[in-house]
Amino acid sequence: MPDTTPVILSAGSNIDAERCMPEAVRNLRRHPDIDVLKVSTCIATPSVGGPDDAPDYLNAAMLIMTRLDPESLRDELRKIEDRLGRVRTDDPNEPRTIDLDIVYYGDLVKDFDGWTVPDPHGLTAMYVAVPAAEVAPTWTHPVTGQDLEEVAAGFTMETAVKHSSSIRLSQPYTTRESDFDDVRQVYAPRLESLVRDQLLEIGEDPDREGLQRTPLRVAKAMDYLTSGYTTSLEEVVNDAIFDAEGASEMVVVRDVEYYSMCEHHMLPFFGKATVAYLPKGKIIGLSKIARIVDVYARRLQVQERLTNQVADAMTEILDPHGVGVVMEGKHLCMMMRGVQKQESSMVTSAMRGTFQSDSRTRAEFLELAR
Ligand code: ZN
Repeated sequence: MPDTTPVILSAGSNIDAERCMPEAVRNLRRHPDIDVLKVSTCIATPSVGGPDDAPDYLNAAMLIMTRLDPESLRDELRKIEDRLGRVRTDDPNEPRTIDLDIVYYGDLVKDFDGWTVPDPHGLTAMYVAVPAAEVAPTWTHPVTGQDLEEVAAGFTMETAVKHSSSIRLSQPYTTRESDFDDVRQVYAPRLESLVRDQLLEIGEDPDREGLQRTPLRVAKAMDYLTSGYTTSLEEVVNDAIFDAEGASEMVVVRDVEYYSMCEHHMLPFFGKATVAYLPKGKIIGLSKIARIVDVYARRLQVQERLTNQVADAMTEILDPHGVGVVMEGKHLCMMMRGVQKQESSMVTSAMRGTFQSDSRTRAEFLELAR
């Protein structure tokens, strides 16, 4: 990433925090303009100012690199908060699924409309200062000139305990070395322990050298292969829909490669899709069609549903005269288990609008899709 700026973010959650914290990290990691370099240990703190029975907060900090300017980055953080179900109210102590804030943006010192960089909480709040120092101990505070390690040293955990007996340091998520030097990332610890159990169950030794990092790798792979669950159609399509009043010819995109996993065996199926539509004033960038296929392929699927979902998505975003989708797929659950012939592949189709009602349109499409 050229022209990137190091940024420290704070994250806090006290609704469904064990799901929302790692999910927020995953959302950031998937962002094309953000690289997550380090994630701190989580700190649990009692909620302050809210109702007495409000659940504890989990707090963490992240060191990221980004191409986004501060305001665009803040907008992207708000989008992730929205995706995770954040409801914004005027009450600053309202429980929340996730709160993502820019604490430091390079060495920038600036007042924006209603917010400031650096975030004043970096100096006043233990739950911001301590995790920030963990991800970037030698980072210089752009106003005070202190190292973040010095800032954090002002908050001993003992002081915090004095303020509230229930405060505690906790590590609900494992942080560990990743495949890159000096980069630590948070992954799904529950999934990792399940993979470890699975290895034991099949008679393997999860501690032997080749398998030690397998649970982490599987968690990463699963995260990617199922990223469709947390990717919305809107963010994929973005602004790639164009007005095209005169366009009336069928648009066909052939041989869109896809990789999915069958929901019956969690084994891959893969192949090619042909997607066509008859525009009614709106067209979409061709590369976006492949991305739309990915949104639905990167889930546990059956090929019939995948085909229908792609057709419905095209209908929803373009409101065309009609849509046709044909998918061909090889299913490893059939091929590897020898139930069917190795070369057998499955073909599914979904027709909408004129592709369904007009036999000539359908015939034209099927001819082009062949
Ligand atoms: Zn299967």
